[in-house]
Amino acid sequence: MTGMTRRRFLGGATAGTLAPLMAGCGPRATEPQMPVAYELGKPLPWVNWAGNQSCRPRERPGPENEDALREALRRATGTVRVVGAGHSFSALVPTDDTLIATDLLTGLAGHDREALVADVWAGTRLHDLGPLLADAGQALPNMPDIDYVALGGAIATSAHATGQRVGSLSAGGTAIALATPSGDLVECSAGRNSALFNAARTSLGALGVMTRIRLKNEASFELTEINRIERTEEVLEDLPNRLARHRHFELMPLVHSDLTVTVATDPARPGDADRGKDDPDAIHTLRRVFDAVAWMPGADRVYNFLLETVLGDDSFTRTGPSYTVFPHVRQVRFREMEYSVPIDAGPACLRDILKTIRDRRIPVCFPLEYRTVAADDIWLSMFEGRAATSISVHQFGDQDYRAYFAEIEPIFWKYDGRPHWGKLHTLDAPRLAALYPRHWKDFRDVREALDPTGKMLNPHLRTILGVPA
Ligand SMILES: Cc1cc2nc3c(=O)[nH]c(=O)nc-3n(C[C@H](O)[C@H](O)[C@H](O)COP(=O)(O)OP(=O)(O)OC[C@H]3O[C@@H](n4cnc5c(N)ncnc54)[C@H](O)[C@@H]3O)c2cc1C
Repeated sequence: MTGMTRRRFLGGATAGTLAPLMAGCGPRATEPQMPVAYELGKPLPWVNWAGNQSCRPRERPGPENEDALREALRRATGTVRVVGAGHSFSALVPTDDTLIATDLLTGLAGHDREALVADVWAGTRLHDLGPLLADAGQALPNMPDIDYVALGGAIATSAHATGQRVGSLSAGGTAIALATPSGDLVECSAGRNSALFNAARTSLGALGVMTRIRLKNEASFELTEINRIERTEEVLEDLPNRLARHRHFELMPLVHSDLTVTVATDPARPGDADRGKDDPDAIHTLRRVFDAVAWMPGADRVYNFLLETVLGDDSFTRTGPSYTVFPHVRQVRFREMEYSVPIDAGPACLRDILKTIRDRRIPVCFPLEYRTVAADDIWLSMFEGRAATSISVHQFGDQDYRAYFAEIEPIFWKYDGRPHWGKLHTLDAPRLAALYPRHWKDFRDVREALDPTGKMLNPHLRTILGVPA
């Protein structure tokens, strides 16, 4: 441990950076960044952020306005898909026919400073949206872990963050303009084309292309985020208090140990200041330390002992405008599976997962993520009709996640979990329909009416929506 302070260790203790503690957990120096090679004479490959989905679309229109988009939809042949920032892990995006990019549909289309609403072009990345909204005196009530995604992709997959009283990004949408598969432009809201609105707020890109989304925001605000290392069991015992006390609260349990990172985020108070700093180099020191003990029988116990000894109760704090505090930088490529279980089932489900990883000696060290989300009324939202705890498991991008995820996925099923649409899972339409008993058929009816020939459906969408080719 020479030269490594608690703070330096803790600085590396968020998702991904603890990896090298476990033998075989660290990314290799030669991690492939591009799973499909460019081949002369063939269409340029498209690859998602995680590197686990790819395709070679013949056509890749990037319309710069709604008219161009409608024309692209009218002309498109074969299977048509739309892409935001390509940060979904599941196979929602790939098509070898027509892939429509939304990168040129960006910025604010309008805003009302008094009413705190903004019309946002669907291709706007969240990192651009923060400052744009701030200029209009507004801020998103919540933001996902990262701000690289496009608003359209986030809304289409019901992307969320954490906060018992805060909904997903989809829940913040109050009106949507949608270019349909046949190239018409339709506006919908709770009071206008309400069935379409309920379907479009989590559409998986199966209903056409959202162009503009009206968001109900909050007045600009500042946040302070406090990261701590605590005992997982003690946090779970106190969880109802933590969830009630903090505007946003989450856990990142450190598997194969009794510890967790906790992240509590609240409105900033006068005098709040950044404290502590991330040190990317700490991870290399840690990896060397672990490798030095990995050969020992009971390496797990040594690992736990080291974490407890070195981490103690240290903490670090970030403070600033909400859109700079909500998102984090993810430097490690990974694959992810996430399910949302009813909120009260969260602790039992988490304990089950931690025990399974330990008992079955699953060789994984990537921290889990445990968040809460308010209920909404969106037909295919993971939070439809119930407040939820979302629990994620991750594996490094250069490692095979399948055996690990296959061990964990049945645990989610036991707790009535609904998979995140943008993350990895193995459910098909009959299983998914059972998880959305109220509105599965309603969504299918809207989709069928808009796209009777299944122009927007790739094989993954046909499987999860139950539409044969
Ligand atoms: C590092 C990382 C961190 C993540 N953190 C979170 C997190 O904190 N919370 C969370 O919920 N998820 C998270 N995710 C998952 C992912 O971010 C979400 O699924 C996200 O919404 C994807 O956005 P995107 O713009 O990349 O969409 P894409 O992956 O490009 O597309 C996703 C879906 O949206 C559709 N779509 C895109 N644009 C439109 C449009 N204009 N109209 C209609 N449909 C459209 C696509 O067709 C596709 O079906 C994370 C992913 C990564 C890689």
